[in-house]
Amino acid sequence: MSSSPAPKRRLDVRHQSTERAAQARGGRRAARRRTSSAFRPSMATIGALALVAAGLGSAIISDRTDSGTLSGDYQALSADASSGGFDVSRDFDRELLEEQTKAQADQLLAAQQELQVATQAKADELKANQWVLPVTGYHITGRYGTTNSLWGKGHSGLDFAGPSGSTIVAIASGTVIAVKYSGNCGNMTQFQLDAEDLVIMYCHQSRQVVKVGQHVVAGEVVGYTGSTGRSTGPHLHVEVKPGGGHSADPEPYFHDHNVYP
Ligand SMILES: [Zn+2]
Repeated sequence: MSSSPAPKRRLDVRHQSTERAAQARGGRRAARRRTSSAFRPSMATIGALALVAAGLGSAIISDRTDSGTLSGDYQALSADASSGGFDVSRDFDRELLEEQTKAQADQLLAAQQELQVATQAKADELKANQWVLPVTGYHITGRYGTTNSLWGKGHSGLDFAGPSGSTIVAIASGTVIAVKYSGNCGNMTQFQLDAEDLVIMYCHQSRQVVKVGQHVVAGEVVGYTGSTGRSTGPHLHVEVKPGGGHSADPEPYFHDHNVYP
């Protein structure tokens, strides 16, 4: 009971005494004669193993430990095969070897495909979490919570002041949920982010160039700066609304995504 399945199966095959088994063995011998030198049919399989090993090496980027272990194993397998490491003795059941080598190659291919899907999912996640500055060439002229005669009780966003007509881009990937003129906010656009339950609001634009329902990605142009609504000069007022509710201080959210306005 301690022997591995492979030798057990070889014994079973040898002890078969039916005519059908004998014919099968004869057929296998004939097949071997046709293919001349040792183990030629499996060279394609060995090639597949090498390809799989190479693919795994490039596909795994997320987990250093797994990457090292997996690619190390597959390289060892591949090297063993190509250096003639198989024991092609007279007792060797080549049909069994080929069948199991094929199964092994299929398993490696399935593992590679699974890794590619996982890697793509990770890339999508990283992409959705990437934030960028909404404008460039700006000075911060108003932070969250500050008070003045214009804002009264407390400023509800972060002000990026710069030349009128500056390009405004989406901070992160999301869906446009509002494009309109809205009182103090002037020309306003709102986005529901993909990766987290946050609504981003832009105010005072001179022009909006997106439509409700449109999906945007980080860095995509969505409008131009202006001074529409309750504003004393061209700037972009940015609000961050967790869950679409009251505005929160935008700066910690920027910082969480490695953006420092
Ligand atoms: Zn403001």
